[in-house]
Amino acid sequence: MCFSKSKSHVQYPNDITSTTRTRMTITNAQAGEQEPSLLHRSLIERPQKVISGSGIYLTLTDGSRILDGCCGAAVSVIGHGNKQVQDAIMQQYSSIEYVHTMAYTTSSAEELADALTELSKPFGLTKAYFVCSGSEAVDAAMKLARQYHVENGQPQRKRFVARRQAYHGNTIGAMSVSSNLPRKIPYDGVLTLDNVSFVSPAYAYRGQRGAETEEQYAARLVQELDDEFQQVGPETVIAFVAETVGGATAACITPPKGYFEGIRKVCDRYGILLILDEIMCGSGRTGSYFAFEREGDVRPDLVTLGKGLGGGYAPIAGVLISEKVVQVLKSGSASFVHGHTYQAHPACCAAGLAVQQIIKRDDLVAKCLSRGALLESRLRSALGDAKYVGEIRGRGLFLGIEFVQDRASKQPFKPAIKFASWMQEAAHSRGLAVYPGSGTVDGVNGDHVIVAPPLTITEEEVEEIVRLLKMAYDAVEGELAV
Ligand SMILES: *Cc1c(COP(=O)(O)O)cnc(C)c1O
Repeated sequence: MCFSKSKSHVQYPNDITSTTRTRMTITNAQAGEQEPSLLHRSLIERPQKVISGSGIYLTLTDGSRILDGCCGAAVSVIGHGNKQVQDAIMQQYSSIEYVHTMAYTTSSAEELADALTELSKPFGLTKAYFVCSGSEAVDAAMKLARQYHVENGQPQRKRFVARRQAYHGNTIGAMSVSSNLPRKIPYDGVLTLDNVSFVSPAYAYRGQRGAETEEQYAARLVQELDDEFQQVGPETVIAFVAETVGGATAACITPPKGYFEGIRKVCDRYGILLILDEIMCGSGRTGSYFAFEREGDVRPDLVTLGKGLGGGYAPIAGVLISEKVVQVLKSGSASFVHGHTYQAHPACCAAGLAVQQIIKRDDLVAKCLSRGALLESRLRSALGDAKYVGEIRGRGLFLGIEFVQDRASKQPFKPAIKFASWMQEAAHSRGLAVYPGSGTVDGVNGDHVIVAPPLTITEEEVEEIVRLLKMAYDAVEGELAV
């Protein structure tokens, strides 16, 4: 494989392309092919072509087999090429491919909603709304929250509070509550809402003070949110939006004990809704179906799901809605003022339903917890003391490794080194896919990779991930030394 390392194209401030550009790609010229008609993520390089996938492995056109250690962006929860899901999709297509939700419904959509609310009802979430992407789900949740207050006689609530180092999607609403800088810079202030403010992430490795206990750290973050509400006027806030376990931006940051319970109390004090974005960390990924289940007594008002909901078999995402919100809408306008042509698409719902049935049948959430514990401990013994490994963190099969230039001071690498994409490249050339990210610390500095294999992973495959990742790391460390 050949990598082009120098680029002549215009760089955005802070190297905006660094989180999306991989170094693993080949240029069009190297491919010896014509300029592609498809607009790829890079206009200069093109990604490698996949011809098939089975279980945890992908096969590329050059014949190489890649162990999928990250499921794209933590998407493929049940692995690739599942026949049962394929059959469910085909069965849906052979009966009805599409109907408009204004006039019709389908069993697939109803049953997927039943399956999810069976899991969420104990937490007060009684209805499901389906769209085609995580970003659409976050926008829908933001609209539901706003409509709730309007119909509840509080139209003066017009603000959202979210967290730094968070990602909620790329549509205008979702991007506005996101703080993933590289994905925002060209649009900031033009295609973003200005009624959003941000508080600190729950990011213990960099945020927790030396003398502070976990509980004290949680209490300080909760106080910061309370202060922010006070600052903007708590009666003007619609909702607080947060990823339960932070995903791609700062790599699998887990909340300190008591954090979300405290957050819930503060939101309740002022009648502010709590929106938990579990698009990446939900659907079993962290070893409980919802990540918030591990946070004590936390009942979110709205929860978004995505990636693992369809497991990559179809574009589907959703919002789970609390009875509290449902009741206010029901006794008001009695409809959600929103809608998409492809909402609750029958084939997407059939795919999502089949994936969720497999998760349940094969007890994959429990499996995720035990395989995740194994993967975490194996990663710790292989890389925990490595020179450039700052922290290994996460939960279940959702693990992040943050890299630093200096472990003692936690000083990150210079962005120009592109440590994370270097790691990705080194792993991929050895047959392992991991999900890299930069800007881990503040949107500009910092590097990480995420390891998030299918929940169906075997113990042998766990060992193989660790073996390949260690080889990749050792190679990068060696190259950096010269
Ligand atoms: C991926 C992601 C989104 C956006 O989902 P898309 O399907 O890419 O639009 C939103 N929130 C979180 C936490 C995500 O990881």
